[in-house]
Amino acid sequence: MKCIFCDEENEANSIEHIVPESFGNKKYVMKKGEVCDICNGRFSKFEDKALTESIFVMERARLAIITKKGKNAKGKVRKLTIEGDENFRKKYINVNGLNKENMVEFNPATKIGYLVVPSFDKSEVATSKLLLKIGLESFYHSQKTLFKKYDFKDLKDFLTVKDNNPYPFLTTDFEIQKFCSVPRFNDKYELKQKHCELKFVEIDENTLLFKFKFGAIAMTINLLNRNLTWIEENLNLDKKSMLYPEHFRNKISKSVSDILTRHIV
Ligand SMILES: [Zn+2]
Repeated sequence: MKCIFCDEENEANSIEHIVPESFGNKKYVMKKGEVCDICNGRFSKFEDKALTESIFVMERARLAIITKKGKNAKGKVRKLTIEGDENFRKKYINVNGLNKENMVEFNPATKIGYLVVPSFDKSEVATSKLLLKIGLESFYHSQKTLFKKYDFKDLKDFLTVKDNNPYPFLTTDFEIQKFCSVPRFNDKYELKQKHCELKFVEIDENTLLFKFKFGAIAMTINLLNRNLTWIEENLNLDKKSMLYPEHFRNKISKSVSDILTRHIV
């Protein structure tokens, strides 16, 4: 069988989970050989970083997700170490390393306030790779017509390390146009039970947006190229969207980057 990423004929030993097991997914998987062991091994490195060194670890802890090794979620985002409850109670999160900057509008009497945590810890590129990987695999598995329509060359070159230029993505749940589910029927239902939504919208021949949502965290990326046009449009309409990796913020037009600055302040 040919690997969908590197096109090599292979007989893989491992099963590739489209949504990583440590998000709680057990059933939405590729068939053996559709992703070769070399690609699978390459992916596990950025998957691990994206799951344990970004905002995803906070959400995995909050939802008391059990890792593929049967453990509670653990990770580190900058100075904060984050750990889910050992008895897998939802909404119990151990966070160490907090300081005043992490507490907003905190009232000592009621002990109620907002907790502000960073989204990434040099894990933006790993996260973008994870989004692209889940995107292409889910299209192959559930949307064959769209999978065959495009060659996804840029995406494949990036994930097989032939081209290391990062892809821009947005942390947003906002939908410029109506998004549809990538998984269908039972797959869609079972992933939803696991707090996962995979959605897409085809805007034009250069823009096939893929949104991955886990719990309350949503991120959107274009599977076809590194174009910033859809991002400018999105940022104009939705003030909560944030663009990563951060260096892309210098490349978008002035009117839109003003929105970002206002948002950061
Ligand atoms: Zn491969």
